[in-house]
Amino acid sequence: MFRIFSSKCAICKRKSSLYRLYKDPKGKKVKLCLECTVYAERRAYLKLK
Ligand SMILES: [Zn+2]
Repeated sequence: MFRIFSSKCAICKRKSSLYRLYKDPKGKKVKLCLECTVYAERRAYLKLK
């Protein structure tokens, strides 16, 4: 049922086991894998947790 929202990184679209919650520049909550958090922090992404 939750397959549509299954864990995929919002940037690289790959599956990962570890995610961090970020808010994208539009204010939407996204899950990012650890590799992409580095990229995200250089962008306008805000760390939620
Ligand atoms: Zn990623």
